[in-house]
Amino acid sequence: MKIAIIGTGYVGLVTGTCFAQIGNDVICADNDSKKIEVLMSGGVPIYEPGLKELITKNIDGGRLKFTTDMREAVKGSDVIFICVGTPSREDGSADLTAIEKVSRTIAENVDGYKLIVEKSTVPVETGEWVKKTIDMLTKGNVDFDIASNPEFLREGSAINDFMNPDRVVIGVESKKAEEILRDLYEPLDTEIVVTNIAGAEIIKHASNSFLATKISFINALSNICEKAGADIDAVAMGIGLDSRINTHFLKAGIGFGGSCFPKDVKAFIHISERLGYPFGLLKEVERINEAQKDVVMGKAAELLWNIPDKTIAVWGLAFKPNTDDIRSAPAIDIIGRLLKEGAKIRVYDPAAMERSREVLGDNVVYCGDIYETAEKSDCIMLMTEWDEFRDVDWNKIKGIMAQPVILDGRNLYDPEKLKKLGFKYAGIGRKV
Ligand code: NAD
Repeated sequence: MKIAIIGTGYVGLVTGTCFAQIGNDVICADNDSKKIEVLMSGGVPIYEPGLKELITKNIDGGRLKFTTDMREAVKGSDVIFICVGTPSREDGSADLTAIEKVSRTIAENVDGYKLIVEKSTVPVETGEWVKKTIDMLTKGNVDFDIASNPEFLREGSAINDFMNPDRVVIGVESKKAEEILRDLYEPLDTEIVVTNIAGAEIIKHASNSFLATKISFINALSNICEKAGADIDAVAMGIGLDSRINTHFLKAGIGFGGSCFPKDVKAFIHISERLGYPFGLLKEVERINEAQKDVVMGKAAELLWNIPDKTIAVWGLAFKPNTDDIRSAPAIDIIGRLLKEGAKIRVYDPAAMERSREVLGDNVVYCGDIYETAEKSDCIMLMTEWDEFRDVDWNKIKGIMAQPVILDGRNLYDPEKLKKLGFKYAGIGRKV
């Protein structure tokens, strides 16, 4: 099939590359000419394991191209995937201006039947707007279908998630659209859930909101455990081994972040309210998530007495391991608070240093590894559980720190072991 991807970011680039890999002719378009230049010259603008190799393979195979020319992308394709960003507005609603722009571009260039697919995460009713917009601008003279096909890939394991999904969701309003999407996903050999467009849009918001709810649930529980003298890891295991609940997303920590959960929970709250059913449960999920950062700050103060002038080594900046994405990363937020209180910050992340520099500027010291961050520091704060941070020479760390103190924001380390080595340790919801 001839496929156009509009919006070549984390989702668009992975989606386009994977569709090429399973035998389609794909053109990825973006209005960010710098991004397209990087891709056309053999680079990759994001860090995603395995992606560079797959892009190169498919460019060489003649199945993958990049362009800034939307006209070329629209005219030359049968199926168009909209993968542009849908960030939060001030009021929490999704900013859909990029979706509208793309809809207009499609309307201006459409030259025959097209299946136009929303892959971006959008609130329910967006599909209707895309349809109305294209219909109006083409004055009803063009044959097209709209479908919703939300994406569930996770940054860090995006290729595997795309190639081996738990399910594919398609929201369609015609048999033709359903058949095209079924054909397209046929090589992936997975369960396909077919519903209408509104249903598919809701599935995506509901999935992310449910996962965020699990995280806030376990974080709230971690605070209760601390007060009651219980251990959250044991409690989470005891809950999660019930197969109706499962252990995924039941890990206490510094709160959820990233480009999806915070914005999608906000957008779902907003659209639910607009539809006449205020989703109070999700407001609480958000509140607990914000409060978790206060919990971390409280722990820092407990460990260090006073924050001003203390040197803090921050391990991990990305919102989770195996990505360079720092959008709404709790680490960045917490660093901002520590700086405001007068701390000196030394940071290291295996992939997110460059992006963090754009946000943190000269306010922190950038280090080459965890040992360099620890030099003369008063506390280590583990913010992202990269594999690289699991195997640490603690004796070396203790020797170079000003004082051996660690705030383990992801419960990655063994508190007993660290205490025996002479560290003052605090985790999240752990009995220490
Ligand atoms: P992104 O910011 O990485 O990529 C969006 C891209 O769209 C950018 O490259 C931008 O330049 C481009 N763009 C914006 N307006 C454009 C226009 N008018 N024409 C052409 N290109 C345009 O965002 P992302 O993380 O890929 O997310 C895209 C969508 O997918 C969002 O709705 C997001 O919620 C959803 N999603 C993201 C993930 C994830 O893990 N990142 C997972 C599932 C779903």
